[in-house]
Amino acid sequence: MNKERKLIIAGNWKMNKTVAEALILAQGLKRELREVKEVDVVICPPFTALESVSKEMLDSNIRLGAQNMSENNFGAFTGEIAAGMLRELSVRYVILGHSERRQYQKESDELISKKAQAAHAASLKPIVCVGETLDERESGQTEKVVETQVRGSLAGLTKDQMEESVLAYEPVWAIGTGKTATSQQAQDVHAFIRKLLVSMFDETTARRVRIQYGGSVKAQNARELMGQKDIDGALVGGASLDIRSFGDIIKNSI
Ligand code: PEP
Repeated sequence: MNKERKLIIAGNWKMNKTVAEALILAQGLKRELREVKEVDVVICPPFTALESVSKEMLDSNIRLGAQNMSENNFGAFTGEIAAGMLRELSVRYVILGHSERRQYQKESDELISKKAQAAHAASLKPIVCVGETLDERESGQTEKVVETQVRGSLAGLTKDQMEESVLAYEPVWAIGTGKTATSQQAQDVHAFIRKLLVSMFDETTARRVRIQYGGSVKAQNARELMGQKDIDGALVGGASLDIRSFGDIIKNSI
């Protein structure tokens, strides 16, 4: 597939996989995707499996991501993990502001922007998630909601930091539901976000930022979604837990 930006496809394993299970999945993906150079592939295991998977992936082209991090660098923050701790395990990416964290941990755009800045300070690339709920879409508020999240979550980033960041548009109604946004619905919001990035940063920065689509991406719909002009990859939940289904999403996107 001839794309303006290199595709980036990330698997969000969420709270799944013991260390032993994570290693089996990671080894399988390493084998399955050995030849893939055209796409940046990222896997995001739970914290407990990061160290083992990191060692396993040393000789692989698959990069490691975390699913969250603290906005603070160290200190009395029980239960939190700092960006520097992730870097120590050769983690390169971190998912921030996933809708599940926005919903269950009540993460705000302001907090997400602090985390994004802390990630960059530690040379971690944030994957910043935004997306509307079904109610918001049905009441015609998609653009307003996405604009507020994009502006708030990326506040304070420099142009260089923005270029090194990844955005993920994930309509909440499509996450884990089997309902995928149509490729046109997704493309429309991606184009809207890119226009927004022009106004927040500039044309060049906006052209370079990769925007992933997330929400029930599967091998069967990956090609059409990735074929859209402003869709530069995918953030995959459920289908990233299986070697064959994640591998096929990537192969079908090339
Ligand atoms: C996600 O959680 O980021 C996601 C897109 O999940 P799923 O692919 O299962 O819809």
